[in-house]
Amino acid sequence: MSTGSRSPTWPARDSARRQRRPGRSPEDADVRGRSSARRRFGGACKAVGTLCGRRAPAARTATTRVRTASTRAPSAARCGAAAILHGMKNLAWQTSQGSRIVRVGVVRSACYAVEAGDGRRFLVDTAVPGERAAIEAQLERLGFNAFDAILLTHAHGDHAGNAAAWSRRFGCPVYAPDGEADQVRAGRCIMPAGATPLGAAVMAVQRRLHVCETFEPVPDVLPLPLDEGAFGPCLKVVATPGHTECSASFVVDGEAALVGDALIHRGRSVFPPFADRPERVGDAWRTLLGTGAETFLCAHGGPVGRALLERSLEAFERSGRSGRA
Ligand SMILES: [Zn+2]
Repeated sequence: MSTGSRSPTWPARDSARRQRRPGRSPEDADVRGRSSARRRFGGACKAVGTLCGRRAPAARTATTRVRTASTRAPSAARCGAAAILHGMKNLAWQTSQGSRIVRVGVVRSACYAVEAGDGRRFLVDTAVPGERAAIEAQLERLGFNAFDAILLTHAHGDHAGNAAAWSRRFGCPVYAPDGEADQVRAGRCIMPAGATPLGAAVMAVQRRLHVCETFEPVPDVLPLPLDEGAFGPCLKVVATPGHTECSASFVVDGEAALVGDALIHRGRSVFPPFADRPERVGDAWRTLLGTGAETFLCAHGGPVGRALLERSLEAFERSGRSGRA
């Protein structure tokens, strides 16, 4: 789907928006570019930051100028090994409708803080407890001190690990896909089987060590509504089962999708190496492409552009839906 008709509003309108919005951090990195960012991200959603000190993919061309300030966390907030990575910078995206998405995380699993164009704030996924302090410092630095809701893409421990703690900290409800809410309520999830030979080997080790299987229960977790507008006009929930039976994704302004583990971006592959229903992964990708989004943001690995997802879906279908896309 072409997004050429969408006219990115940054920087002119965004400058005004940032001035009137409280909590917008001056530390956010900005990108002033010409068509390079649009080519890379399909024109609908601009990358405006850096990760781990490296330039974001959209910012690598000579025609794009990146302006960034230090994003180091306060030293008091640093603790343990995570402190080493507290200096990492956060990838950020701005939609043409004025929503801001910032990737936060350390090593294991990323989460995404969303400031929607209508002013609502959401946190999508919550990573693992061992990275809690580092992520809290990032959120604080970025001006995210409260959320309207925590949204979980699925019940795995590396996505639900801090849901209970952050529900208390931010005073907001937690939503999880209906069919997996019981796992979040119990604080115990069922990790999937390997969908590739490497995935099977890794999962065999993870299961033996019980990695990410348990986390703090969220007794009052709510079922994720699939109704249009349930979270306002900017954020839409779509069902994307495959990695788990009931996985969901969140589409912001029809331009960027926060996909959890429906895609795992490693090298040229986006196929999740672990999946309960690998044969349904292609259906999830088709659903995501059907939203019109141009950028797909994973919990593991970098952003995926629409062209790569389209190629991956074609390869998946050519493979006879064997899960070796
Ligand atoms: Zn998962």
